[in-house]
Amino acid sequence: MSNTFCPLPWIHLATRPNGDVRVCCTANASGADLVDSKEAGLVMQDGAIMNLRDHSISDVWNSSFMKETRLQMLNNQVPSSCTKCFSEESKGIVSKRQWETIVWKERIDIDSVVAKTGADGSLPVDIPYFDLRLGNLCQLKCIMCSPHDSSSWIKDWKMQYSKYKTFELRQDQHWDDRNRDYTWYQKGNFLNDMQDQADSIKELYFAGGEPLLIPEHYKILEFMVASGAAKNCVLRYNSNGLEIPDRLLELWNHFKQVKFNFSIDAVGDKNYYIRYPSKWETVVENLHRLDNTPDHVIVNIACAVQILNVLYLPELIEWKRQQNFKKINKDNGAGMIGLHLVYLPSYLNVRVLPKHLKDLVTNKLTSFINNNTDKRFLTDPMGKQRWEGFIKYLNYEDWSNKMPALLEYLEVCDNTRGLNFRETFPELTL
Ligand code: SF4
Repeated sequence: MSNTFCPLPWIHLATRPNGDVRVCCTANASGADLVDSKEAGLVMQDGAIMNLRDHSISDVWNSSFMKETRLQMLNNQVPSSCTKCFSEESKGIVSKRQWETIVWKERIDIDSVVAKTGADGSLPVDIPYFDLRLGNLCQLKCIMCSPHDSSSWIKDWKMQYSKYKTFELRQDQHWDDRNRDYTWYQKGNFLNDMQDQADSIKELYFAGGEPLLIPEHYKILEFMVASGAAKNCVLRYNSNGLEIPDRLLELWNHFKQVKFNFSIDAVGDKNYYIRYPSKWETVVENLHRLDNTPDHVIVNIACAVQILNVLYLPELIEWKRQQNFKKINKDNGAGMIGLHLVYLPSYLNVRVLPKHLKDLVTNKLTSFINNNTDKRFLTDPMGKQRWEGFIKYLNYEDWSNKMPALLEYLEVCDNTRGLNFRETFPELTL
């Protein structure tokens, strides 16, 4: 296989909350191509983005964009939308390309899937892996989120946008809901198309909006159960974990495995600030509830690392240790918590920290690493290696020129919410 190979263009389709289709979520993220285009990694046809409201799954799967992406990888080229993975790998961070390859090698014979590739890059439409963002319905307005991904943000965005003065902030926070249909999954042939794929599906990944609020998420689970396909299918979630109906736990019983990534970014009022307005008591209660689910339900705390919480990561891990969970992060994050970096909005990225705070974070995280002698932490790629990768990433470039945008953004949000980031994060002397 070529050095630039990634299995995803052969096994996977992903959507954005508005139904636009992307090669994968990392392909369509900040830093995802050489010109940092917001359209990076989106599947295009005749210069327009393909959307699952208007295009069938099979049209997208064998679009010229997907065919070309496969051929580039087979020819040892890096598709421009995939540069983020290779850039992360060069800094010692385990990329999505790397960990997805490990996961899927265990599940399917990748060589035989690739052998079905036509000379033009086409493939039979038997897709084992979907990443579905079914609209933007969400009850939270996390500080790093936006109306693109959360319906709750829309009201605040309308109050806030006119207050932004910094050019970068106005540009970054720009949102235009014309031509955006966050109910695309209720239309067209999408649900029927998905049902046609049921027997091929080995993993369904749901993220937000908040998937557990969305009725069509339950419909998909129900047809997977009714067809008998659920027993071969892994479910994966990124969720705020605030709404867990009994009906969901009953449906999960039919699936091969459920991997639930519970988004928590800090302890108590710091989490409330970042994942506003999530109630900490509900977070804790639901974590303990999930800790008592059957063994095939795997639960991980997934933390989005950004400027506001990076200094407090050791405290979150300490809190988690004190909870004595039976299984949370048992096999992920080297038994502590899962970590991923926030790239958007860019002014919340850890590289924006001024030098004195980068030094403080570096010292605190280095001390945390050095004091951790757990064998798994030392050997698991998601343990010490990942933490060291974060420190390296943090110090690699200086983005402190984004500080005016950051401060203005936090102050405008604080005014809307009646909060004060300087009180919630007192050590963060920005
Ligand atoms: S190389 Fe990275 S960005 Fe490209 S498809 Fe694979 S995981 Fe996605």
